[in-house]
Amino acid sequence: MGLIVQKFGGTSVGDMERIKNAALRVIEEKNRGNDVVVVVSAMGKTTDGLVDLAYQASAKPSKREMDMLLTTGEQITISLLTMVLLESGYNAVSMTGWQAGIETEDIHGNARITNINSDRVQQNLRDNRIVVVAGFQGMAESREITTLGRGGSDTTAVALAAALNADRCDIYTDVNGVYTSDPRYVKNARKLSSVAYDEMLELANLGAGVLHPRAVEFAKNHGVPLVVRSSMEKQEGTMIEEEVSMETGLIVRGVAFEEEIIRMTVIGLENEITGLSSIFTTLAKNHINVDIIIQSKTETGSINLSFSIKRESLEDAVEVLQNNRGQLGFSSIEHESGLAKVSIVGSGMISNPGVAAQMFEALANNQIPIKMVSTSEIKVSAVVDEAKMLKAAEVLHTEFNLDKAQEPQKVSAK
Ligand code: ASP
Ligand code: MG
Repeated sequence: MGLIVQKFGGTSVGDMERIKNAALRVIEEKNRGNDVVVVVSAMGKTTDGLVDLAYQASAKPSKREMDMLLTTGEQITISLLTMVLLESGYNAVSMTGWQAGIETEDIHGNARITNINSDRVQQNLRDNRIVVVAGFQGMAESREITTLGRGGSDTTAVALAAALNADRCDIYTDVNGVYTSDPRYVKNARKLSSVAYDEMLELANLGAGVLHPRAVEFAKNHGVPLVVRSSMEKQEGTMIEEEVSMETGLIVRGVAFEEEIIRMTVIGLENEITGLSSIFTTLAKNHINVDIIIQSKTETGSINLSFSIKRESLEDAVEVLQNNRGQLGFSSIEHESGLAKVSIVGSGMISNPGVAAQMFEALANNQIPIKMVSTSEIKVSAVVDEAKMLKAAEVLHTEFNLDKAQEPQKVSAK
């Protein structure tokens, strides 16, 4: 007998009919003789609706009260799902994040899990109950209710799976698995049977919305086998694990893209030695995530610094930099919007040089100018005009042979 953690996302519990369908998935697993812990999101677009209400109450809602409000969404789902399970004759109990022992940092809106005290969950499992836990929420040492950031229910599920030493964590969602690219926009995108943790981490961070990046990080650090699968269709999903077979001849596993990228440029940075670090320390302290960074020296010897950020961080970044202008020492800032980032990801890059060159050439051959570039061991990202983003994704999907299914071959991705 094993222990399985199942997570159902918002769409998968979007109405009563879907909650009953999710209950069937839970019961199936229980009937196989497994212990089952279920983590759920708020129903459908409930969280968005609550955020809307908060902004009707206040132009700048208190972060504490926002957490108080948003955590109610998941509590609706845990109780309804548990009622359905009880009605079906199964022993079940719902638990809020704090009842389940999810301890977090003392930050509102985007707290990290620091520890899980799983005693109560384990006691309920020993008493042969299905345990239904509210995702996305926890409690700080100060006994404040916190949330884990939008999409954070995935992280609750993986963290619980790690703490309980579960055999598997199944993420039930509204797609069949992880695709080579977003099938809504890239017509030849295919479902992958497996993806390595590191590849998934890059894809999740690059805007492939199927999993919360912190959930993937947690799964990798604790070796939790993760499966992304559909709650509606009975199909094999995508397995996310450490070592993954590469398909023959494939170097790239997926193409990700993200719109609303901004290029900020700090002009005339005075101190060549400390300028860079003080700018990025200041941005980091204000929780502004910077992605691609380019420093250049002008003909007159002054320094310009360009970096990319997400659209949602623009106002904050401008404000923080302007407020600290004297101390940071620069003459002006500029920004360019209407940009997007297109990336290729694959463990095969480690042992195959020339992948970036092939990417740039493919984009150049299709008249897609590249504005900024960044690379890691298993990723190359290019910033392009937003209007050319989807074209770029299609071009790269074809260029790296992702359009057609290949014969799988069992070799390590490392
Ligand atoms: N309900 C939260 C959200 O919509 C958390 C989640 O669904 O994972 O972001
Ligand atoms: Mg999600």
